[in-house]
Amino acid sequence: MRQQPAVLVVEDEPAIAELIAVNLRHNGYRPTWASDSTTAQKELDAVLPDLILLDWMLPGESGLTLARRWRTDERTKAVPIIMLTARGDEVDRVAGLDAGADDYMAKPFSTKEMLARIRAVLRRRAPEQNAGPLTVGELTLDASTHRVSHRGQPLRLGPTEFKLLHYLMGHAERVHSRGQLLDKVWGDHVFIEERTVDVHVKRLREALGEAAAMVETVRGAGYRFTVQPALVDKH
Ligand code: CA
Repeated sequence: MRQQPAVLVVEDEPAIAELIAVNLRHNGYRPTWASDSTTAQKELDAVLPDLILLDWMLPGESGLTLARRWRTDERTKAVPIIMLTARGDEVDRVAGLDAGADDYMAKPFSTKEMLARIRAVLRRRAPEQNAGPLTVGELTLDASTHRVSHRGQPLRLGPTEFKLLHYLMGHAERVHSRGQLLDKVWGDHVFIEERTVDVHVKRLREALGEAAAMVETVRGAGYRFTVQPALVDKH
């Protein structure tokens, strides 16, 4: 089962934030609330949400400044952002989208509109969730049936190893640091040490059997899933 998407709501007006949070919770999302830019940054440093609802006018740094920064930060740049604002003119809309927001909502907006925009942005950002099985080399992972097979033979993976493999196969040939894997696979890394990743990579390799070498250790950098493992001289 897929986890409920986490939504970070950055909004300084408690009444509006509360209304948004209640509606999100009732519709299958897990909202967290940050009332200013400092709190929002702290939340993001701890946990990467699936989506950010970002108010334009905030005490301290504006939503526009935050959006620009998050878009240029390697760690946060893929998190979708929907800007919220009381101003509705075209200039602001363009400025918001230029800053890297995925979409824009002018207050007041209905719950229905908010949910529709969130769904659309999440769909655009995560096409692999609706796609068929992932295949890399002779390894196939089907997220809808939770099955993994190598050369047609089914493999048994624990839930964390499955999530880890799903992420790695979806982003093959790229090097991922342990911190990035914690963000993407575990979601909340506050209380998890980076060596936890190593433990699960080891288990994943054991489960993969003959395909174990596809999960490469990149010294000093992290891990990479590759269709062509480097040949290791065993002599
Ligand atoms: Ca505001």
